[in-house]
Amino acid sequence: MDPDTAGGASARPADGEVLLAARALAKSYAGTGGELPVLAGIDLEIRTGEIVALLGRSGSGKSTLLRCLAGLIPAGSGSVVYRGEPLSGANPGSAMVFQTFALLPWLTVQQNVELGLEARGLRRAERAAAALQAIDLIGLDGFASAYPKELSGGMRQRVGFARALVVEPDVLMMDEPFSALDVLTAENLRGELLELWESGQFPTRAVVMVTHNIEEAVLMADRVVVLDARPGPLKAVFDIPLARPRDRGAPAFGALVDRLYGVMTGRAQEPGPALLGRPGPQAGGPGRPTPANTPLPQAGVDGLAGLAEILARHGDRCELADLADELGLEVDDLLPMVDALELLGFAVVHGGELLLTPEGSGFADADVQDSKKIFAGAVLDAAPLVRLIVTSLQRREGTLRAGFFRDLLAHHYTGEQIAQQLETATDWGRYAALFTYDAGPEQYTLDEGGAAWHVRPPRAAAPAG
Ligand code: ADP
Ligand code: MG
Repeated sequence: MDPDTAGGASARPADGEVLLAARALAKSYAGTGGELPVLAGIDLEIRTGEIVALLGRSGSGKSTLLRCLAGLIPAGSGSVVYRGEPLSGANPGSAMVFQTFALLPWLTVQQNVELGLEARGLRRAERAAAALQAIDLIGLDGFASAYPKELSGGMRQRVGFARALVVEPDVLMMDEPFSALDVLTAENLRGELLELWESGQFPTRAVVMVTHNIEEAVLMADRVVVLDARPGPLKAVFDIPLARPRDRGAPAFGALVDRLYGVMTGRAQEPGPALLGRPGPQAGGPGRPTPANTPLPQAGVDGLAGLAEILARHGDRCELADLADELGLEVDDLLPMVDALELLGFAVVHGGELLLTPEGSGFADADVQDSKKIFAGAVLDAAPLVRLIVTSLQRREGTLRAGFFRDLLAHHYTGEQIAQQLETATDWGRYAALFTYDAGPEQYTLDEGGAAWHVRPPRAAAPAG
């Protein structure tokens, strides 16, 4: 039992008792091309008195980890231990709040809340009393007899909270509970929950919450655990030693947010997000980028060009947190564009700051035709999948079906990932005038830029194709 650093100067300091733990936890899903590893080697302890945030980018396995901790899905290998006992089946000490509320529309608020108690064998009157108490606690009094469709999103999520809290779980689990709500409603609910937590009225001993929102994690958690996009040990663990209520404007708050942005960016050199575990034929040689070891970030040209221009206007550099604020972007939208700029050599991330390179600055300042040329050069250098499409088209003298490339990628990615990879490659290659794409027959055709491009056979022996 490796004692983590206890979390911070909260009014409810963690008292150190380990409630729930993941030990060497691994989990894969069955995919079309083989097993898709999502989690590997995860060690994590949840202690009484703490709020732990699981932070990571889309697809990093946050929900999977939370579901394993809740016993809703079994661990692949390793174990989940609740109060010293390995879990088999649902965790009896946890209750879950979902992003989408998951209410039954034909039941009233009170009946929805009572559902949480169904398995407990309480008498009807006891159930009703407990539900009303939870309804009061969470600010739903007056709505007990309402149906979900009569409620606003914020009120519906309160029902989600009441249904989880009514069972007084040891650990309240929440999977992005605020992300379906508008900004103000979300902020209001966060504040109310934290007040309840601080006041000691909260009928749970620990909270584990999933979020992709860095500020939300720093606002709420005692400890922020960052999951890697690639299956592997936790990328980082941050204690948040700030007293509550926390001030988003405080320098210490901003510093933590910036550090987390730094951790969340940083392009992987090796196989990218959730790449299939099986090494492909080209995966051996270190360094040489291939479509298998260099997944393209999901970012369209418009977005990344716009981001480069905004950076140029800021004097070629900007804090990522400020960019997200200014543009009203979520991390999951912003970071793929940042990845794309980095991959193409147009920008670098340093600490929590994004800096335009001279190439990026040239790209941002050029007129449309020049910017297309600069982009074409960068893409052919850095995006192996685009290069593969171009070289394949050159060899076939003209035209190829998308299915051809889907087959080539099938050993390395899941079906969904393949669609994403091709979508990005198509967007980039079209903009760069390397090829055209006809969505009807799903057909690629060489364009001027692609026809004029000369492969350098000795160095860049074309990837399998
Ligand atoms: P996050 O919550 O961080 O966005 P998830 O845990 O939902 O990530 O998913 C992690 C990865 O596992 C993703 O690539 C996702 O597509 C895949 N995945 C999640 N659930 C399943 C499932 N039931 N079957 C197959 N793949 C899944
Ligand atoms: Mg999720």
